[in-house]
Amino acid sequence: MKKIILTGDRPTGRLHVGHYAGSLRRRVQLQDSGEYDEIYIMIADAQALTDNFDNPEKVRQNIVEVALDYLSVGLDPNKSHLFIQSMVPELTEMTFYYNNLVTLSRLERNPTVKNELQLRGFQDSIPVGFLTYPISQTADITAFKATVVPVGEDQLPMLEQAREIVRKFNSTYDEVLVEPQVLLPDNKACLRLPGTDGKAKMSKSLGNCIYLADTPEDVKKKVMSMYTDPDHIKVEDPGKVEGNAVFTYLDAFSTQEHFEKYLPDYKNLDELKEHYMRGGLGDVKVKKFLNNVMQEVLEPIRERRHKWEADIPAVYEILKEGSRVAQAKAAETLAEMKAAMKINYFDDGALITEHVNKYR
Ligand code: ATP
Ligand code: MG
Repeated sequence: MKKIILTGDRPTGRLHVGHYAGSLRRRVQLQDSGEYDEIYIMIADAQALTDNFDNPEKVRQNIVEVALDYLSVGLDPNKSHLFIQSMVPELTEMTFYYNNLVTLSRLERNPTVKNELQLRGFQDSIPVGFLTYPISQTADITAFKATVVPVGEDQLPMLEQAREIVRKFNSTYDEVLVEPQVLLPDNKACLRLPGTDGKAKMSKSLGNCIYLADTPEDVKKKVMSMYTDPDHIKVEDPGKVEGNAVFTYLDAFSTQEHFEKYLPDYKNLDELKEHYMRGGLGDVKVKKFLNNVMQEVLEPIRERRHKWEADIPAVYEILKEGSRVAQAKAAETLAEMKAAMKINYFDDGALITEHVNKYR
C-alpha cells in the first residue's frame, strides 16, 4: 500500500510556533525522509468558514499567509502538494454522503468540538456546519487515501471520527477507504504547546501566539513577558517547571547546541530545571536563553519567508498547481466511492442490461 500524508491548517491567521512544534516541523521531516509516495498539505478555507462564515475576508487574506508560512518552514512544492480545500469540490460531495454515517449524538460527544463551541460562544446556537466539521475533515483525509496524518493532540478526536466513518463506509458499501493513522509529536511538550499567557493551547483564536513571521523584536518582547511560575517571586524562591510555559517551550525547542552556545554554565535542560526548582535562578535569565533559542529557530524561517514574499504570484501558482493535482486525486476516490454506493448509473453497463431484461 502507498504511504500517503494529508494534513493542513485553517487560514484564520498566520501560523505560530505551536503549529511548528505540533505539526509543521514533523511534516518537513517526513517530506524530506523520502519515505512517502504522496504528500498533500491543505489550507482548510471551507472549514475556516464554518466558524467565520460572516468574515470571508479574513479567510481570503490568510490563505497567502499560511502558504508563505508553509514555504518558509521548508515545505517544498516539488515534494508536497500545497492546495486549497474549496478548490476540490469533491470533498463537499463526499461529506454529504458521510453525513449519513454519523449520528448527531456522536458529533456532540467530540471533546474538541465541545471545547471549541464554548470558546466561540456557540453553545446556544450551534451552526450545523461547525458541528459537522469533523465529518468534512474525514472527507479531506480519505479523499487522498491518507495513511498518516501528522497533527497536534487536539486533533485526536477528529482522527477517531475519521476512522469510524471509514469502517462504516467500508462495511456498508465496499472496501474503498483507507483508515488513517495519527502521528503525534514524540516530544510531549509539542503535543499541545501552551500560549505565552500560560493557557493550555497556543491558538490563533486566543491571541497568545508567537508567530513564525514575527520580527525579532516582537519575539523578544513576547518571550520576556511570558507566563512563568506565579509563585516564583524572588530569585531565591524555589520555582516550578511544570505548567511553566517558558520551560515547556525549552522542552519543545532547545537543543544541546543551544546550551553550548548560549548557556554554557549548564550542561543541559535538566540541570537548568534543577537549579530553577532549587531556587536561585531568575526568570529573566531563563527567558533570555529562551529568546536566543527562539531567534535561532525562527531566523531561517523568517529569511525564507522574505524571499517568497518577493514573489507572491509564484506562491499563488504553487497553490493552483497543488489544487489541480489534489482535485484529480479526490475525483478518483470519489468515483470509486460512488461505484461502491451504486450511484454510478451511467458508468454501469450491467444496470442498463438488467433493466433491458426487465422490460423485454
Ligand atoms: P484556530 O484557533 O483557528 O482553530 P489553531 O491555532 O487551533 O487555529 P489549526 O489550524 O486549527 O490552528 O490547527 C492546525 C494544526 O496545528 C493542527 O494539526 C493542530 O493540532 C496543530 N496545532 C494548533 N495549535 C497547536 C498547539 N498549540 N500545539 C501543538 N499543535 C497545535
Ligand atoms: Mg484549531
